[in-house]
Amino acid sequence: MEKAQLQRYARLIAGSGLNVKKGQKVVIQCGLDQPEFVAMVVEECYKLGAETVTVKWSYMPVAKLNYIYRSLETLSQVMDIEKAEWQSRVDNLSCLLWLDSDDPDGLSGTDNEKISKANMARYPIIKPYRDAIENKYQWCIAAVPGKEWAHKVFPELPVEEAVEKLWEAILYTSRVTEDPVAEWEKHNAKLAQRCEFLNKYKFDRLEYKSSNGTDFTVGLNQKGIFCGGGETTLGANVYFNPNIPTEEVFTTPMKGRAEGKVVATKPLSYQGKLIENFWVEFKDGKAVKVGAEKNQDLLEKMIAMDEGAAYLGEVALIAYDSPINNTGILFYNTLFDENASCHLALGRGFNNCLENYEQYTNEECNKLGVNNSMIHVDFMIGSKDMSIVGVTTDGKRVQIFKDGNWAI
Ligand code: ZN
Repeated sequence: MEKAQLQRYARLIAGSGLNVKKGQKVVIQCGLDQPEFVAMVVEECYKLGAETVTVKWSYMPVAKLNYIYRSLETLSQVMDIEKAEWQSRVDNLSCLLWLDSDDPDGLSGTDNEKISKANMARYPIIKPYRDAIENKYQWCIAAVPGKEWAHKVFPELPVEEAVEKLWEAILYTSRVTEDPVAEWEKHNAKLAQRCEFLNKYKFDRLEYKSSNGTDFTVGLNQKGIFCGGGETTLGANVYFNPNIPTEEVFTTPMKGRAEGKVVATKPLSYQGKLIENFWVEFKDGKAVKVGAEKNQDLLEKMIAMDEGAAYLGEVALIAYDSPINNTGILFYNTLFDENASCHLALGRGFNNCLENYEQYTNEECNKLGVNNSMIHVDFMIGSKDMSIVGVTTDGKRVQIFKDGNWAI
């Protein structure tokens, strides 16, 4: 990939993504796939005035060996060094960047149950740190191609070509044009306009229908708002873009109000494995039945992770005619695939999708209907003929999506 193009991408991530401010600490989590690009991002962060930039490299085959050879007991522990890292994030509100390049099949052959149990044991130990920094720090997830990932997406190409092609797809969908920063300002303004439209109606519920069998209603939260694009940190008031790319307008639904069946339109990459051709049936807000052609057991385990894992935490609207979907590429990566079509997420909801959320504690947000869980897993349900109707509390019906695209 051309160096100037990559530099623009690095600048976009450090500037518009994290929006690093003078004197801030930055932590970057990434694989070993694109070290030169990581260095470019590090430099851009320093140019913006970062005090320190720490890179945490990881290598999936090593993570896999840990899952295979370590006992459940040691996998369940949060080591002192990890706790110290979390405490440092709490003390410094460091910016956090994930540069994802993971192999979608990187953990296949490992024991799902062991990984789930270890995550469940670690969750309550990490949660207080997480709660202490939620919505107070800048973070961003962006992607760079890894060889295994590129091969999975373009299996017919020699691997070097596949990596190049995945770079192209990442940069295209991330709107890395001659002036990506200006492009993102325009894009954010458009997403804000859609949010404004939806928030004006204060819909009671959304009704989904599609010829693939989706027939589903989800209740919205009367204190809820639709969000999209950039976010602003509490306290410091810094505007940042948590996802590059992003196309979604989303909200946190009312826990306990979801009825009917949703049929997934893309496979779900979960814990390094793919759940394929699946559906979920809801009753009183809870996923009560699931089916999948492949890895159904993984899906069943996922919704049984904790009490909230079977409830919804996100409702997101994205046009079928979106840049990501138009590439025709299945990325096997949530950051991209979730922005290709309308989706839902099982698990944790978003406090910051409630009006004046900063006035409430976590517990109060949960009482107001924001779901709480250790998981938050997006799955795609958007289709070419999807219809979504918004219904207000007084019964007014507004067509929001028609034939897969925005009708407003
Ligand atoms: Zn989403």
